[in-house]
Order: sequence, then C-alpha cells, then structure tokens
Amino acid sequence: MQDVVDELRAYVTWAGDSGLQNLASPSHENPTPNVKLPTLESVRADVGDCTRCKLHKGRHNIVFGVGNARARLMFVGEAPGEDEDLQGFPFVGKAGQLLTKMIEAMGLERGDVYIANTVKCRPPNNRNPEPDELESCEPFLKGQLAAVRPEVIVTLGKFAAQSLLRDATPITRLRGQWRQYEGIPVMPTFHPAYLLRSPGEKGKVWEDLKQVMKKLGLKQ
Ligand code: URA
Repeated sequence: MQDVVDELRAYVTWAGDSGLQNLASPSHENPTPNVKLPTLESVRADVGDCTRCKLHKGRHNIVFGVGNARARLMFVGEAPGEDEDLQGFPFVGKAGQLLTKMIEAMGLERGDVYIANTVKCRPPNNRNPEPDELESCEPFLKGQLAAVRPEVIVTLGKFAAQSLLRDATPITRLRGQWRQYEGIPVMPTFHPAYLLRSPGEKGKVWEDLKQVMKKLGLKQ
C-alpha cells in the first residue's frame, strides 16, 4: 500500500498537480481552444432518454460511463450485462470485479480511470451488439473520448477494438499491438469475461497492461 502511495505522491510532484487530479491527463488542456470540446455532461445530455436503437426497449438503465473525467487511461468495453443494466454503471458484475483487479494490479484505482462501453444499453440475454446498435451509440463513445481525452485507451474484447479501430482483424491478432484512435494510442486486449472462461490467457493481458503502464510512466 505504501508503495502505491509513494508512487502517487511521485506522480503528483511530477505532474505539478494536486489531490485526486494526480492521474488527470496533463494533455487535458484544450489543444484547439477555438473549438468547443464536449464535456461528459454534455454528451450525457445528448444521450438523453435514448430510443435511437432497439436496445432501449429492454433496458432498465442507460449505462453511460464512470470514473475520472480527466483520466489518463480509459477502458472501453462491449455492452452492459445484467448487473450493469440494473445498477446503471459499467463493469460492476463478475467481469467488472476482474477488471477492478486488473486496474489495481497496475497500481491504480477504479476512480483514477474512466470506463465506458461501445453500447450503453444491455443487449437481450447478453447477445452481441448488432451493427445498427453499435452505429447508433458510436457518437456517444466518441463524445466521451473527446471529453476525457485520455493519453491511452485500452479496448476490452473484440467489439470495442474492432469498432473503435474500424478493423475486422480477429482480437487474437489485434491484442498486444499498439494502434491509434485519433492520435491516441490504443492497446487492444482480451475482455475480462473471456478471462473468466479462459484464465490461462491472463498472462497475455498482463503483458498488454504492462505496455500500457510503461507508456504512462507507471512503476512496473
Ligand atoms: N461487459 C462489458 O463489456 N461491459 C460491461 O459494462 C460489463 C460487462
């Protein structure tokens, strides 16, 4: 624990920032001051009580996103499951508990990062999101990325990687390789739900997260 505190204190000193903003992105200043960037609040307001796609029919809650609005690191998952739909927050079920462990293994806390999904409503019986659903929801994920402007994005699983990168390459080949989304480095990795089914693959994900830690200058 003391190690983590020391590491955070070192980061605060380095970033010249204070308190909880210690993991806020130093690049968070608007690089184009004449262009008004969205905020998470404005993107959430745009989502409204969304009925743009058929997923709205079965949902209990829109699962928008959670975390530090100025995070240096953003995780993008696939779609809310049952727990997320009922609670209104991403990654709060079993896969979410594993994601929390992954974040903590990096020396971070959930509150340091921002977490969102490619689609904001639960697909029935956790089926895969369909192309029209991904397309309807994409502007909101893009808005969240534009609002947070993380230094690094980690995509979790096939759908997040393929839709953000517009690349149909299988996740087994995408993972572990740095890509870019609008100039932001993207590290595709496996989804924690897949790791629950195939724990033998955890080592590969840890290798991917270590690359992310290196990029962010976090102690390995
Ligand atoms: N799986 C996801 O992709 N997202 C969640 O929020 C929960 C499970």
